[in-house]
Amino acid sequence: MNLLRLIILGTTIWIAWFLFKRWQAEKNSRKVLDKPPKKTELMQQCEYCGVHLPASEAVHHNNKVYCCTAHQKAAQQ
Ligand SMILES: [Zn+2]
Repeated sequence: MNLLRLIILGTTIWIAWFLFKRWQAEKNSRKVLDKPPKKTELMQQCEYCGVHLPASEAVHHNNKVYCCTAHQKAAQQ
């Protein structure tokens, strides 16, 4: 009788552990889905060579966009 109780207790603990693990995995996968999408940066094109680059790295001059100061100067000549 003692062995039967032990088996029932063991099975109950195993099922509880299994359900807990499954619940935790579900919670983690939902957390990944809830994450905001990766912030995308606006891409701009160099007026001189046509290369695309992030707006934060672009050189702005007279409402025109350049990839570097060298191309900005070259475009002015
Ligand atoms: Zn360029």
